[in-house]
Amino acid sequence: MTVSSSSTASHGSPRAQAATLEFRSATKRYGEQSEPAVDGLSLTVPAGDTCVLVGPSGCGKTTAMRMVNRMIEITEGDILLDERSVRERQPAELRREIGYAIQQIGLFPHLTVAANIAVVPRLLGWDRSRIDARVRELLELVSLEPVTADRYPAQLSGGQRQRVGVARALAADPPLMLMDEPFGAIDPINRERLQNEFLRLQSELRKTVVFVTHDIDEAIKMGDRIAVLRRGGKLAQYASPAELLTYPADEFVEDFVGADRALKRLALQRVRDIDLWRAPTVRSGEPVADVRRKIADADIDMPLLVDDQGRPQGWLSGRGLAGERVRPELRSRAEPLVELDDVLRDALADLIESQVHYSAVVDAEGRLAGVLSVEIVSQALQLPAERAHTGTELAEEERESLTRSEAEPA
Ligand code: ADP
Ligand code: MG
Repeated sequence: MTVSSSSTASHGSPRAQAATLEFRSATKRYGEQSEPAVDGLSLTVPAGDTCVLVGPSGCGKTTAMRMVNRMIEITEGDILLDERSVRERQPAELRREIGYAIQQIGLFPHLTVAANIAVVPRLLGWDRSRIDARVRELLELVSLEPVTADRYPAQLSGGQRQRVGVARALAADPPLMLMDEPFGAIDPINRERLQNEFLRLQSELRKTVVFVTHDIDEAIKMGDRIAVLRRGGKLAQYASPAELLTYPADEFVEDFVGADRALKRLALQRVRDIDLWRAPTVRSGEPVADVRRKIADADIDMPLLVDDQGRPQGWLSGRGLAGERVRPELRSRAEPLVELDDVLRDALADLIESQVHYSAVVDAEGRLAGVLSVEIVSQALQLPAERAHTGTELAEEERESLTRSEAEPA
């Protein structure tokens, strides 16, 4: 196992921070059934990545996941955790090493939140003070008030219970987390909140995570890599979200990701990832003759007034250019302001809502970084037409660039 000294958990002993997980032709047949529930599944999840298993109900997601911690025995093939077969491991020991969180998390109703979170640390024989410290740390990590520790599961909302479930799964700082539809039973608003919290958490912890969902949007949002399964437990495609949406491997995947896959891709790209237009920027008092030259050089002919720090003030009116020098007369304020870190989907929504064709983009300091237009977003939606269904022939370079934009920190 890779032992990391940079573990973010503060409870002492060095542990593996994240493990590599490999399915090697893993197959499951229930009983004498001839049709496998999972059929020769092969895929590798790099250490620290979140792999989402997605597909219609009954396609074998839960079965595939439970073979990892041997809640379900593998019929043929193998699963390796840091290159070591799970078949060689004692199931009880294996399960203490693998965090497990499920929908309607089976919290023990007669135990307090603190005691629920402490189940695995107690099995591992941690002492009282170490367990208490870890419980406090985990409650904070999953955004629960310290007073929650003494409550019972029935006294919590669904969202709070789910947070406790995640905290419990994380308790012993496992190198691998299995999460089976963890947010499936939560209302949409709280689900989105939990998803965002989990993404934030995972960006700090970088565990290896296997996440099961039947919801393609959740898969796209949560996954570094997505494994699409079809009925019979067959792997249809294993790819990054961007690659899946851009080059679905076949009609099944294309149907499953949805007809709006181009629009879904907009949620994966940030404004900073694309080429913006240049605006003619002007400052108050600047010679108008210079401005005319700038307008000729820029991508749009509307001069944008900026302050001394380069922060957009607004679009200059014709009157502002009437004299020798620029006067700060605005046609309209620079609104909406798009940020470099915005995802394209949200930026486009801003443009549409404000009924404008383009708007100024600013960096974290509020300085002008360029101009985003509906045309630019539209270009970002375009695909080379002949590429559908040829995922495997994707040029290595393109594949890399897709993976890179994926890996961009949120
Ligand atoms: P998913 O999680 O994708 O909905 P499952 O892994 O639960 O799918 O189930 C895959 C297939 O295996 C289904 O056809 C299901 O009916 C079958 N199955 C699941 N558990 C058992 C079991 N314990 N015994 C027999 N068949 C099962
Ligand atoms: Mg399931």
